[in-house]
Amino acid sequence: MRIDVLGVGFDNLTMEEAVEQGMLLLHSEGAHYVVTPNPEIVEVCRESREAMTAVNGADLVLPDGIGVIKGAAMLGTPLKEKTPGIEFAAHIVERMAREGLSLYLLGAKPGVAEQAAKNLAARYPGLKIAGTHDGYFKDDGPVVEEIRQSGADCVFVCLGAPKQELWMAKNGPATGAHLLCGLGGSLDVFAGVVERAPKFWSDHGLEWFYRLCKEPKRIGRMMKLPLFLVHVKQEKRKK
Ligand code: UDP
Repeated sequence: MRIDVLGVGFDNLTMEEAVEQGMLLLHSEGAHYVVTPNPEIVEVCRESREAMTAVNGADLVLPDGIGVIKGAAMLGTPLKEKTPGIEFAAHIVERMAREGLSLYLLGAKPGVAEQAAKNLAARYPGLKIAGTHDGYFKDDGPVVEEIRQSGADCVFVCLGAPKQELWMAKNGPATGAHLLCGLGGSLDVFAGVVERAPKFWSDHGLEWFYRLCKEPKRIGRMMKLPLFLVHVKQEKRKK
């Protein structure tokens, strides 16, 4: 059973369990998708029924950061641990490399997915890169066809939220891949374009603050974090 945080149902798994689950999906018939909502995405879902349906329709819903963990605890239904999308992705890539499976990278600015592919292939020998495509395209059709032709087992879909969640819900089955993972800005990190916050910051639940200092233009988006906490408090009172 999923744990409800303001309408989004989260799977209550450790990172190890989430990766096991992801690999099971990757080896199952049909298309499956994984989403990794943070408080900002939960707020987006509250404003858009379409986004909420796409997120809750995922086969795995993983709490990306400390905000969701705090929210769940405040509501009296704690989640085991945070399972950041980028770390989940790195574990999945490692397992795929061991099994010689193929990965398609979709998203980010032109050139970024190619660089991420080079870095991942160098770091995880055995990984097959099925192909790459930037995230600034108009028609889904040709991109879906390219992925299908590539025979990719798994696709990292990094178009930002809620675009990537809607994209996976709509196009997942037509890609022919068994697992699609919506991973926000992860390709920028894998490509070395954007740094992750040092461990100190993430260990103290302050990764958001580090990112804000590096990219002050995120302030508008980040105002959703206090809003999320206000909504959690309101929900708690209702309970
Ligand atoms: N992006 C994209 N297509 C779009 C809009 C965004 O490929 O139409 C990419 C963008 O270049 C970035 C990622 O999606 O690489 C979103 O990053 P963001 O930092 O917003 O994601 P977060 O990790 O915060 O969810």
